[in-house]
Parts: sequence; structure tokens; C-alpha cells
Amino acid sequence: MPHILALDEGTTSARAIVFNGDGRPVSLAQKEITQHFPRPGWVEHDAMEIWAAQLGVAVEALGRASLGPRDIAAIGIANQRETAVLWDRATGAPVGPAIVWQDRRTADACSRLEADGLGPLFRERTGLPLDSYFSGTKVAWMLERVPGARARAEAGELAFGTIDSWLLWKLTGGTLHATDPGNASRTLLFNIRDLAWDDELLGILRVPRALLPRVVPSAAVAGETAVPGLAGIPLAGIAGDQQAALFGQACLSPGLTKNTYGTGCFMLQNTGAVPVASNNRLITTVGWQANGDVTYALEGAVFVGGAVIQWLRDGLKLIRSAPEVNDLAATVPDSGGVFVVPAFTGLGAPHWDPRARGTIVGITRGTTAGHIARAALESIAFQSADLLRAMRADAPAAPAEMRVDGGACRSDLLMQFQADLLGIPVVRPEVTETTALGAARLAGLAAGVWRSAGELAGGHRVERRFEPGAPAGRMDELAAAWSRAVERAKDWARGE
Ligand code: ADP
Repeated sequence: MPHILALDEGTTSARAIVFNGDGRPVSLAQKEITQHFPRPGWVEHDAMEIWAAQLGVAVEALGRASLGPRDIAAIGIANQRETAVLWDRATGAPVGPAIVWQDRRTADACSRLEADGLGPLFRERTGLPLDSYFSGTKVAWMLERVPGARARAEAGELAFGTIDSWLLWKLTGGTLHATDPGNASRTLLFNIRDLAWDDELLGILRVPRALLPRVVPSAAVAGETAVPGLAGIPLAGIAGDQQAALFGQACLSPGLTKNTYGTGCFMLQNTGAVPVASNNRLITTVGWQANGDVTYALEGAVFVGGAVIQWLRDGLKLIRSAPEVNDLAATVPDSGGVFVVPAFTGLGAPHWDPRARGTIVGITRGTTAGHIARAALESIAFQSADLLRAMRADAPAAPAEMRVDGGACRSDLLMQFQADLLGIPVVRPEVTETTALGAARLAGLAAGVWRSAGELAGGHRVERRFEPGAPAGRMDELAAAWSRAVERAKDWARGE
């Protein structure tokens, strides 16, 4: 039976999972990545540490499955998106720390570009708002600030890439400099209609073309590994983590939608062969390029999702572990009119209010810890419902169900409330490692382990379906009250 090795290089850890031909995980290895916060708002990773960790867990996962490189039909990579690495082509050494997607150091540069009236141009070409979240201004920052970097970049001595490119380079012993259109579509440098680097945008951000990776399909054999312990395996799948999860959830036709309940929440909807521009402040992104077709997606993010449960645990000390929130919430039949708005770092889509701050409203003498816990859990669902409302307004096809994954999707209480609120079934898959599974499926498709998208869709196994059950009027009332609570949280941190 063929096996596929998925490399899932996330923000907090590097993971490797071996999948069998049925798409079931057979072994896993994981190593944490050190987070560096050298200044307020700055977040860095050591690209060499990422590489060493990723290689280490890959070899470990193979060992645990008692498999060797020859037993692996292909490798698929899923990666933390937008994180920028600049390295020396001759030595393969990074020229500085990797600037992580969360890093805000280029926020002022983005504001200046916006003030110059360039926002609409970037949005039209790339599908993205001008925000420091994306890689383009991060690489521009490195070229400005790392001594000698610009001259060396212009001389063709340096390479830029997101984490997928970096791993491909290292895995091939420095012979392959590539990325996929999904990762490229997060850089602010890539025209998502032409599927090509955009010279005008490169000029505005002063990024030399010589730095950029070649863009290859997300599912295609792009090269072969050439490192000890892992030699001779086809590199056949590349996708950013959220795109990989969309693929892993078998959201393979327009309208199919997934929501990941991790630290934050990421909702992506497959919009098919056409990029759909958003009027509700969502992002237009490339999903993947496979079998000659390009698939686009609409995306919205909630900054604080499962993290509100961590706050109950670490900040309020109401619970000792995340799963305990469900027992505490179950001590009350409902939130008793309490709403928690976890706008700890502002609000993401569709509100985009960086000055919003967290608030709890509706507290009375009868309010208990149970009510707060329940309201905190429900806040994850309310925020996700706001995303879906924006998607329904933007996208031509309305989703018939919501496919879910991520740590907090383990909460049955949250998932039932989510179904009630969305008015569509919430579907939890058997394999919740959807990011790694998506990378494996892209690679397996290219390597011929699976022949078609239809075969992949057939392999999507459901663990549980939560049907909407609450009276619609009741949910409308709650949604209206939530909106009023959000208004209370907005525009709070004036002058900060
Ligand atoms: P990430 O990939 O962003 O690190 P995960 O997908 O691992 O996140 O999900 C972790 C999040 O899920 C945490 O914020 C945690 O609070 C939440 N979580 C984990 N288990 C549960 C549970 N049983 N009920 C509710 N929330 C949970």
C-alpha cells in the first residue's frame, strides 16, 4: 500500500504525519518552534530551526511507521502562510530572522502605501488589503534594513520565499526554488488572475524579480528530496495551511466551506474557477492549482477563537484545561443574557476594527462562572457566524453545510450552538488533521495514489453531523443582541 508523508510546518510546531492510501494517519511526530518577540509587535522565527525541526520530525514519523524513504510515494507540504525568509543562494543560510505573519513592524509602511492611494490597486491585483500580515512589505523591510541585502538581491545572490519555498530549497539540497499559487497569493506581489508575479507591484515595493521563486502547481511533482535519511522522494504537494485544510476537507467544488477553530478561526469557501471580489472585507485568495485547474477561495479570519478558552484558563483561572470549559458551560442552560466579545487584539473580518477591545455585557446579580464560560464558547460561534454572513453576501453559492476542524471543534456544545446559529448542519470529519491530510491529498493526486478529485471526495468520512434545531426566531434574537454587544466593544482603545 502506498504511503504519503505530510509535512505540516505550523506557527507553533513542525509536524510530520504519514498517511496510508485510505487517507488515514498511521504515525505522527511533532516538535515545537521557538517564538522570538524582540520588540513589541515583532514576531520572528529562526528559519534554520524550522528546517532542522521539520527534517527531524519527518525522519521520526517514518521510523514510527517502520517505513523508509522508498515506501513513500510522495511528500506534501502545508505551511504557516505569509512568513518571510530571505536566504543566501550559495550557502543556503538565512540572512536574518524569518519575519512571522503576526509581525506588525510594517504597519506604518502599509499605512503610507494606503495614504498614497495604492490600496485599490493592490486589492484588485492580489485580492488582499494592504496589511502588514502579508509578506510583501516584510521582504521589503529586510531589503531596506539588512546591511547589503538590496545590492546582493539585485545581483541575484539571494532568494526570498515563504516557508514552503524554504523547505523545498532545503529538501532538494538547494536546487529547487519554488512556491505554489496559493502561497504566492499571500505576498502582495502576485497577480491572482494572471497567476504571475506583478512587475508594477514589485516596483512599488522595490522587490527585485531575481529574488522570487518559480510558481508551480500545488499538485505536481516539482522535485525530489536530496537529504540524508530522506532521499529520492517526489515533492508533489504544496499549500498554505488554510488552503490545505480546505482541500483536506474535500471542499472541492464551489460553495463548499470549512471553518477551522484553532487559536483563531479561519473560514474559507471554495468559489471555483473565478476569483470573487469581496464587498464585505473578506480576502480573495488562490486555493490551489491542481490537474490544470485553478481554484479560488474567499477567506475570513477571526483573531481570537479558541484563544478565548485559553484566556478563561490562564487569565481568569475559571478552568484548569480547555476541555473543562464544556463542563462549566453545561452547569447553565444558556448564557443568561451574557455576551463575551473577545476583541482582545481588535476585531478581524468583517469588522476590521484594530481599536476594538474585549468586553462582557449583560452581567446581573445572577450571573455565574457557568454563564461566562458559556458566553465565551458562544462568542466563537457568533464571530464565525459574522464571517458566514459576509460570505453569503459576497459569494454566488451559499454553503449547504459547514465543515469544521481545529482544536475547539471537539466541543459538542460549541458545534451544536454553531449549527443552530448558522441554520445549516455543522459537519465534523473523522480525520481532524485536515491540514496535513490536504497536503497529503495534493501530493497523492500528483503522484497517482489517488486518481481524481471525485475519489478524494468519496474518501471524506464524517464523524458527526450537528443539525440546526433551535427555533429560528430565538437565534435571530441572540444574533441581534450579539451585534449590539460588538458595537460596545468597537473603537474602545482610542489614542493607543
Ligand atoms: P492552533 O493550531 O491554532 O494552535 P488548535 O487547532 O490546536 O490550535 O486548537 C487549539 C485551541 O482549541 C485552543 O485555543 C483551545 O482553547 C481550544 N480547545 C481545545 N480543546 C477544546 C475543547 N475540548 N473545547 C473547547 N475548546 C478547546
